[in-house]
Amino acid sequence: MSTFETLHIQELWIKKLQKQGIKTPTPIQAQAIPHLLTGRDLLGKAQTGTGKTLAFLLPILERIDLEQKSVQALIVAPTRELARQIADETHKLIRNLEDIRALAVYGGQDVVKQINKLDRMPQIVIGTPGRILDHIDRGTLDLRELKTLVLDEADQMLHIGFLPEVEDIIAATPRDRQLVMLSATMPDKVEKLAKTYLKNAAEVSVEAEKVTVDTIDQHVIMTTDRRKQVTLRAMLDEMRPYAAIIFCRTQRRASKLNEELQMQGYPTDELHGGLTQAKREKAMAKFYQGKTPFLIATDVASRGLDVTGVTHVFNYDLPDDAESYVHRIGRTGRAGNDGMAITLVTPRDERAFRDIERTLGIDVTPITVELSEEMIASQHDQSKGSSKPAEGRGNTRRSSNRRTNNSRRR
Ligand code: ADP
Ligand code: MG
Repeated sequence: MSTFETLHIQELWIKKLQKQGIKTPTPIQAQAIPHLLTGRDLLGKAQTGTGKTLAFLLPILERIDLEQKSVQALIVAPTRELARQIADETHKLIRNLEDIRALAVYGGQDVVKQINKLDRMPQIVIGTPGRILDHIDRGTLDLRELKTLVLDEADQMLHIGFLPEVEDIIAATPRDRQLVMLSATMPDKVEKLAKTYLKNAAEVSVEAEKVTVDTIDQHVIMTTDRRKQVTLRAMLDEMRPYAAIIFCRTQRRASKLNEELQMQGYPTDELHGGLTQAKREKAMAKFYQGKTPFLIATDVASRGLDVTGVTHVFNYDLPDDAESYVHRIGRTGRAGNDGMAITLVTPRDERAFRDIERTLGIDVTPITVELSEEMIASQHDQSKGSSKPAEGRGNTRRSSNRRTNNSRRR
């Protein structure tokens, strides 16, 4: 088994990692780091939560020339949230080191401030495609000395429609720089991008299911469309999740469920692509801070987000396929923490759910929850359209008290 030592990572970084509780490399790190340290191009395929960030970040840190105050590594991520997470992870490692600087650039920040900071010559720049390109066009991001270009979450980036920006960014970098592409999936668009730009690339991949599913306590609960919401509420009341993500199939369904649960006094918020970037950031921030411990989300919005500390994932609506199932439940039980995933299945979903089980070779444990008459009645009221705030507020208060007694594992 590899260790960070055998991968030739310096003691300096190993110590910093240990302080964060990171002791042994994940499979994708063990595979990717040796290639990246030699400067080779790389295509890495691994699901969310497998530790891709450090897989590219550690070799970048190892290869930086401290004497040289110029941008040596550029990391491109599809969303601000992801860019910020990578920047945070980088800052955790380089804190207190005077010779290394990293800077995050993404939309919504003050451009002039960013330009001033770029003037101070960070060696590592992390950002979203649009804003990076903006700085390239203004001449405020000088990439002449760039050694490494990382395209993180390439599938998501192309899915959002950033191909032209990504190609323009690649074109603005030196020909001999190292190119690293990471992706959870390999749709044609990603394959094509890889074929066009990677040269003699190493290819590494890890199977996701093994990484995530094992540490997660998985359950299925049979319900009906009509009873779905009371079933969820009964589980929230009974399990008192500390921090939960509730997945819906569409933005509309997420919005509606959020509204209805809020009306019932539950501390929820919504996160999906139909919201403005500002709203999404606010929802994420409040979730991180524990102010709204239940986040109702769609797949797209939650992809790739590192939300360590999530204790429960609810599949309110069945995910499309096994891959999406693994993505979703991978939001919990990350990096060795315990997590619980509960999938609500209606008679109509049953076959599709069995398919997911078969694909993953798992056998999910059925559970039941008691529905009180009162809850069922409130559901009936709702379907008649006369929903009014229920008397469930005590719950909310109790669960928020509990939150302050615990510190989040972040
Ligand atoms: P990905 O980019 O593949 O989705 P991340 O790089 O965001 O995954 O890592 C997911 C989580 O795992 C983060 O909280 C990170 O700190 C943690 N992590 C990364 N590498 C390790 C490791 N070697 N050991 C333990 N935890 C790790
Ligand atoms: Mg990542």
